[in-house]
Amino acid sequence: MTGIYHAPNPDNVKSRTFAPGTEERALLKAALEEVSNQKVVIPAIINGQEVYTDDRFEVRAPHDHSLVLAECCRVGEEGLKEAIETAMAAKDAWEMLPREQRYAIFLKAANLVETKYRYFLTAVTMLGQSKTANEASFDAPDEVCDLLRYNVYNMDLIYNMQPKQDLTLMNRLKYRPLEGFVCAVTPFNFASICANLPAAPATAGNVVVWKPSTNAVLISYYLMKIFMEAGLPAGVINFVPSRGSDVSNYVLTDRRLGGFHFTGSTRVFRDTWKMVGENIDNYRAYPRLVGETGGKDYCFATENADVDELVTGLIRGAFEYQGQKCSALSRAYIPAKLWPEVKEKLLAEIKTIRVGDVKDFRVLMGAVIDRHAFNLAAEYIDSAKHDEDADLLCGSYDDSKGLFIYPTVIQVKSLNYKSFNHELFSPILSIYVYEKDEYDKVIDHCANSSKYALTGCIYTHDRNEIAELEWKLRDSAGNWNINDKPAGALTGHQPFGGARGSGTNDKAGNITNMFRWVSPQSIKENMLPFTDYRWPSMAEE
Ligand code: NAD
Repeated sequence: MTGIYHAPNPDNVKSRTFAPGTEERALLKAALEEVSNQKVVIPAIINGQEVYTDDRFEVRAPHDHSLVLAECCRVGEEGLKEAIETAMAAKDAWEMLPREQRYAIFLKAANLVETKYRYFLTAVTMLGQSKTANEASFDAPDEVCDLLRYNVYNMDLIYNMQPKQDLTLMNRLKYRPLEGFVCAVTPFNFASICANLPAAPATAGNVVVWKPSTNAVLISYYLMKIFMEAGLPAGVINFVPSRGSDVSNYVLTDRRLGGFHFTGSTRVFRDTWKMVGENIDNYRAYPRLVGETGGKDYCFATENADVDELVTGLIRGAFEYQGQKCSALSRAYIPAKLWPEVKEKLLAEIKTIRVGDVKDFRVLMGAVIDRHAFNLAAEYIDSAKHDEDADLLCGSYDDSKGLFIYPTVIQVKSLNYKSFNHELFSPILSIYVYEKDEYDKVIDHCANSSKYALTGCIYTHDRNEIAELEWKLRDSAGNWNINDKPAGALTGHQPFGGARGSGTNDKAGNITNMFRWVSPQSIKENMLPFTDYRWPSMAEE
């Protein structure tokens, strides 16, 4: 070693506007055409080799039933077990590779995402996930690049954290990757999470078995190909589209499981945690379980809120990406004094929102991800039409062309009403209007009633209220915003993650997450070894 490389402190990617007449708009439209007209067959990728199987499913655009984007091959027990063996075979060489060589692969992948594949990945995300141009590009390329770069930067900070030295002792901390392999299981709603969950442990020197979501398999496949183009050695990350239950049965129970990097629903994380618990005697080490999961994210407004700011926060927080962000706003507490004005402006603005095919750049909202999500939202909307405890202020659905749920507002008359408490992951905002004498009661409800604690926001311009709410709501959210919607965290600026049923709060893209993928070893070397076992106190008087 002739020099020590230091990873750069990254700048976040600058977003494009896609305004009419811009070059980026033309490039994105061309990419949308390209992706719409190709129907790829997605293989598994194990040991760097494409694996085609007969167990296949179709990938369709959620907003257009007729648009088939891909066909995907699934692997079962045999493929998953092969992926584990392959990962373990690749482990020593990957772990021994100098850190800057590892960094270079992920920094190059970020560069490829930001340049060569920028518009292509945005188009895949738009069509596969039904995101608008802005939502898709915030995700891929922007957040994908940010996370890949921050992982490298944070890993470098960790390697540089070394213990105190003594005159005669040399002390070192080695940040070893975990013994065994890491299993990464990714959700449908963010390309950035699809990239990050396998990449973060791999950046720390781990080998990975990666199961993508069925509903995000196309973007995941292209991200995997970019990792390979950037020079990722065969076997370090193995891409295995498969059934969730197979991953639980054949991967999570393997005695070499070193870690589980998960994002998705609270139910699946709890089930997998139980499964690991039941198998605890079989593992070589305690597997690290890192999960970012569900939310029931809130807005708490006081009489000192600005109505226009509040209404904008309600709309953007609840309806962008059809409410399918884990951080999306879904319950709001609004003071009775402001309600008439808030209601009037909110419903008037909602009437201006376009919902439809995301290839039409004027829409704010596309479709929800799949039939299950559509049916669940439709059931809650229908129920609100009849339930005594609810008034449906606006909202409807239509699945004739795609899976469209229109922006929905339910005014609930009871804090216990179901839409006010269950995660729905769709554009349904439930609002409770509170009287002045209920102030303490609703703060207590907001702070303590939910099994989740992911994101929340308050709207007020009174400093005493801000301080009071910051204290009283301190355990209600891992990301907490003042006079801003609860969604929208930027890597490196607002580290993201929640507690309670919302996850282990390890904060994606932050140094705290990277610490979970290493097992430190403390090494002491004695430069003047002892030659006498006797302590001075033992000498004769
Ligand atoms: P999901 O739980 O349905 O699926 C997530 C992944 O788990 C998928 O790949 C799925 O195939 C897999 N899976 C399902 N059953 C499994 C099993 N038994 N064993 C192993 N894997 C299994 O979640 P989703 O619908 O993809 O995503 C939406 C959920 O994710 C919401 O609850 C949302 O709040 C949450 N989410 C949270 C964050 C966060 O940072 N907290 C971010 C994004 C999404």
